[in-house]
Amino acid sequence: MLEDRANTHSPMSLSPAERERYQRHLSLPEFGAAGQERLKAARVLVVGAGGLGSPAALYLAAAGCGTLGLVDCDWVELSNLQRQVLFDTATLGAPKAAAGAARLTALNPGIRVRPHQVELAAGNAMGLIEQYDVVIDGSDRLATHYLVNDACVLLGRPLVAAAIHRFEGQILTYVPGQGPCYRCAFPGGPDAVVANCETAGVLGVLPGVLGTLQATEALKLITRIGAPLVGRLLTYDALDMRFSEFRVARRGDCAVCGDTPSITELKDEVPMRDDDVPPAVRRLSPADLNELITAAGAKAPLLVDVREDYEFEAGHIRDVVHVPLNQLPEYLARLAPDSDPVFICRGGMRSMSACALALRANVRSPANLEGGMMRWAAEIDATIAVA
Ligand SMILES: [Zn+2]
Repeated sequence: MLEDRANTHSPMSLSPAERERYQRHLSLPEFGAAGQERLKAARVLVVGAGGLGSPAALYLAAAGCGTLGLVDCDWVELSNLQRQVLFDTATLGAPKAAAGAARLTALNPGIRVRPHQVELAAGNAMGLIEQYDVVIDGSDRLATHYLVNDACVLLGRPLVAAAIHRFEGQILTYVPGQGPCYRCAFPGGPDAVVANCETAGVLGVLPGVLGTLQATEALKLITRIGAPLVGRLLTYDALDMRFSEFRVARRGDCAVCGDTPSITELKDEVPMRDDDVPPAVRRLSPADLNELITAAGAKAPLLVDVREDYEFEAGHIRDVVHVPLNQLPEYLARLAPDSDPVFICRGGMRSMSACALALRANVRSPANLEGGMMRWAAEIDATIAVA
């Protein structure tokens, strides 16, 4: 857990200017000067200065997080500015780590900001992460999520992981020894890919919500207030303006935090050969799924709609089984490993969570309807209403 450096070093006590700057924190009895001093002593690493990392880093800098590391190897592009609020038009073409650090320092000159313009990889992740107390993963690459998770588990560092997809996002906090890691929740590995923002699109404010939640979790861990999202995967649907939550348990057979882990050091993911593909998520476009359903003589696929009741009642695909996401674990426990279910939701992210849960439940080949019912209605059946 977090070392309590705040109480062992006197330089951590607050100056008059700091007392004024953080007055609204000091007024919170739960937070107070002790919380602010812990924050001043804390070192947080933000992986990815993108849509998630931008608000997370801005709020942590404003809040007075003493040392902030910012990892990113990219340069600011025009299409980033729709959501990456750490940057502005004047920084186009600048390295994100340096431009982000400059912005954070301008916001709060009292903190130390350390830009790391590197691509996080097996060779450097441990050395970098061990210099920090808490890690916020805002990267948009699935391989990086697993790499950061594994490094945090091996080093015993708390991790706040989030992901976004089109209009939906999800967040989970890992605290060593207290609950599941990211790999426990999503054991599919880097091949169970969710398309990134570049290919799938993303609502600009969505990472603002999720990144701010990540900063909130980091602040809580550091100041030791509240209950972190340990063992609870929180999902957010911006179109419905709905938060959902479901329980995720630590897996005894987790490859990195399990009882007999197979991952004891970091390795870069090597692309798999075609004949060596592990059980993973099949990704179906609406046209792919339509072909599966209408193929003459073939066995009808098992379709599982994981949306809420009101969404299902508004309109759904014929012969589909309706199991809202929060009831899915019980359903999966009764499902045959070779049932090859296709999961369906509104936009494709809850169903991707369903696929991850199915893999956990030893269902060998779950499938995701990419883009969900919205894309189905747009491309295949315009008579279906999507709530
Ligand atoms: Zn795990």
